[in-house]
Amino acid sequence: MFEGLRIQIVEPCRARCRWCGTWKRNPKFLKMKEDGAAEKIHSFYADAVRHFKPRVLYVSGGEPLLMEGIGSYMATLAPYVSKIHLFTSFQFSASTRERLDLEHMPWDKVVLTHTMAGFEPGRWDYMTRGFPFDVYVDNIRELSRHPWRKHFKFIVNNDTLPDEIRRFTDTVQPDDTFHFSLKLVNDHPGGIGRSLIEDTRHKIIQALNGLDMEGLDTRLTGEEVLRAQMNEGDGPSACPYRQEPKELRFALYTSGRAPKLKYRFCPHFPSNKHFIFKIGRDEMQTIRESFQSRRWHSWCSSCRLLEYVEGDS
Ligand code: SF4
Repeated sequence: MFEGLRIQIVEPCRARCRWCGTWKRNPKFLKMKEDGAAEKIHSFYADAVRHFKPRVLYVSGGEPLLMEGIGSYMATLAPYVSKIHLFTSFQFSASTRERLDLEHMPWDKVVLTHTMAGFEPGRWDYMTRGFPFDVYVDNIRELSRHPWRKHFKFIVNNDTLPDEIRRFTDTVQPDDTFHFSLKLVNDHPGGIGRSLIEDTRHKIIQALNGLDMEGLDTRLTGEEVLRAQMNEGDGPSACPYRQEPKELRFALYTSGRAPKLKYRFCPHFPSNKHFIFKIGRDEMQTIRESFQSRRWHSWCSSCRLLEYVEGDS
């Protein structure tokens, strides 16, 4: 039913990125691993993948690459989807990298996916609260030696991005297993302005003209939503997420005897808006009914995507 399905693996993350608060839940992740809630949740995700058969599966965390058995777990989900985006921060030690449990990973379906916070030591240090830049770069280079597909997303929010892309291509020397795209990210609520986004994108495209860099997708994630809402002036009713079931996103809510997940149908609902699914009690059918009820359409008046670019229409 849903074109995309997003799951959140219960595995602590070693990164401390400034724009992400998920690592603050690490103690909770550990407790969920200890009390068996994590296993129930991962088993539920497998049921949901079999039930909805999305075209694309997005796997975030925590840090999914650090999960024991991640390769085998992905192999159980792969038959039901065409592609799996497996997100990683590349923030772990070299010895941890050597011990990643990638056996049985279905690399014909999996794309190693990463959102780049900055590829300049000073900016990186600030954005990650001091994770060593050289370790990060080594992890990218070492894991990129494999012929797996990789997808790197550059965050469009600063003027130095063209220089960072140049540094990245010089350092990593990406080949045709790499795909690149541009992204707005949730570190600019309050609005960075469409003119800055367009200006940055223009500079990136200009910079890339002089580089041997294939496979850059210069569309922004969420751009079709912005166009529908702003450029064509139809407001939320024109939003693609409301036209058809594009995405089902699960995120952890609470553990306990019947762990609960939050779920939503677009990435841009206000942060306090979601439905709740009680594992072991609710039926998968309730998710379909929630989508079809359209109750969530009222949340679009506080669409976060518009917040990112407000004040500059
Ligand atoms: S909050 Fe509503 S209008 Fe905004 S992207 Fe989501 S579904 Fe579309």
